[in-house]
Amino acid sequence: MTEKKCLKPPLHRKAIGIDLGLTHFCITSNGNKFDNPRHTKKHSINLKKKQQSLARKQKDSNARKKARKLVAKIHSKVSRVREDFLHKLSRKIVNENQVIAVENLNVKGMVRNHNFAKAVLDCGWGQFCTMLKYKAQWEGKTYIEVDRFFASSKTCSVCLNKVDSLALDVRSWTCTKCKTQHDRDINAALNIRNEALRILSLGTSDTANGGNVSQPGKTSVLLDAVPREVGNPIPL
Ligand SMILES: [Zn+2]
Repeated sequence: MTEKKCLKPPLHRKAIGIDLGLTHFCITSNGNKFDNPRHTKKHSINLKKKQQSLARKQKDSNARKKARKLVAKIHSKVSRVREDFLHKLSRKIVNENQVIAVENLNVKGMVRNHNFAKAVLDCGWGQFCTMLKYKAQWEGKTYIEVDRFFASSKTCSVCLNKVDSLALDVRSWTCTKCKTQHDRDINAALNIRNEALRILSLGTSDTANGGNVSQPGKTSVLLDAVPREVGNPIPL
């Protein structure tokens, strides 16, 4: 007996949506939260001390050379630790999934916030996405970037109902329509995953219902989404 091959594999089971955050480095659609390493911050006191010491040293002195080496040492330690973290996490995610969906960082970067821009550089999201991308490509897996629509946190990933407002400090909420309880970040990650699957399904299916058909590979807006097209979200 040969095993019957399913024509439409349950893609969503092996697809992951990743929401990049600040309180956590990233949050995945299957409910995992990975701590933000904030390596620079951790080492910043030490770095500041060493930098101050460097500034006090006389020009062209041996002591100055030595102090400069110490500063450089902290810098390189920070980047090594960060890179190691990013490599391990991206490896784990690519190993465990077939489709990896992240939000487009350019859109996220549009938020005009100086501290935010600094944090983006500090935690290495760009580097992380690059790693996910090439690791996925090596293994013939799909890496897809989805445009972050402003409502991704405010949209229910189950019924697509959109709440009017959701303050930043609200970490969990209940959908007024379908009564699903949402963790704010996991819900956003689910929306990213669902949107990616929708784009992929439009790219491969012969017929697409409705008028708003995206080009494969192009990103689009969640509110056009047809929930039944992307399968049922994994229950939390
Ligand atoms: Zn709902």
